[in-house]
Amino acid sequence: IMGTRLAVGLWSDDDAAGERAVEAVLGEMRRVDALMSHYKPESQLSQINQRADREAVRVDPELAQLILRAARLSELTGGAFDITYASVGYLYDYRAHTRPTDAEIAAGLGAVDWRHVIVDQEASTVRFSRTGVRIDLGGIAKGYAVDRAIAIVQDMGIVHASVTAGGDSRIIGDRFGRPWIVGIRHPDDPDRVIARIPMVDASISTSGDYERYFDEGGERYHHIIDPGTGRSAGELRSVTIIGPDATTTDGLSTSVFVLGPERGLELVEKLGDVDAVIVRRDGKVLYSSGLGEPP
Ligand code: AMP
Ligand code: MG
Repeated sequence: IMGTRLAVGLWSDDDAAGERAVEAVLGEMRRVDALMSHYKPESQLSQINQRADREAVRVDPELAQLILRAARLSELTGGAFDITYASVGYLYDYRAHTRPTDAEIAAGLGAVDWRHVIVDQEASTVRFSRTGVRIDLGGIAKGYAVDRAIAIVQDMGIVHASVTAGGDSRIIGDRFGRPWIVGIRHPDDPDRVIARIPMVDASISTSGDYERYFDEGGERYHHIIDPGTGRSAGELRSVTIIGPDATTTDGLSTSVFVLGPERGLELVEKLGDVDAVIVRRDGKVLYSSGLGEPP
């Protein structure tokens, strides 16, 4: 679902109730995907991309709210996080190994600016201020779906659970009296773990250059795009963010990846309620002060 692998683990005293909770998680993931997928032409997100340059497109308040949340993150990150990156981003096809020419990037960049997206909360509509704008919530939607899923199992009375969608996880409670352990993988080897983080009541997201990419002429073309250049952000291999909720950690892992090590860590330290593990291109691993340098 959402083009990624899901994992749900939870504790219930009652088998049937546990199964129902797992089903509810899957159902919620499918619902969010149907609303926000940019692959599905009938999704509300695709409706925005098809029509919002000409008219205000009515959407569910939930989608309008998430677009506003993305805009707040754009403001916070000085535009490193920007859902209009897709105005250029759609020209990359990582499976087909195709990418835009310099001229195509230059032509598309004018449409990349989160301020081109105008949300009317009262009317629950979205409109673009110019043509050529496209949006994509891939940098935040999985974390959002994970948060929604956790809220639903909590409503069902579950107090110990872990929900993961791709690189985004949220954990409530503990696992048989101990923390849940989440591993951060090595960027070049899915079976090698560079750090193990014990977690209780927290979220963790990893963004990496190994998720969707192709290599050509010694360059890696991957799915995290610097909105300033229209090209893959080049300084880091992966960014892991630990924080209170998965929408936050998902959005921030993508953001810090674009910001790079110095500006990225500066933002993490400023925010205070999040931590980061950053793998630089040269392999060096950096930790925010809340985690400390492990021995
Ligand atoms: P993640 O795996 O959470 O790091 O998100 C990567 C996804 O975020 C990509 O596949 C795109 O859908 C989207 N994305 C890429 N670059 C940006 C950016 N600069 N701002 C917001 N979303 C982005
Ligand atoms: Mg993300």
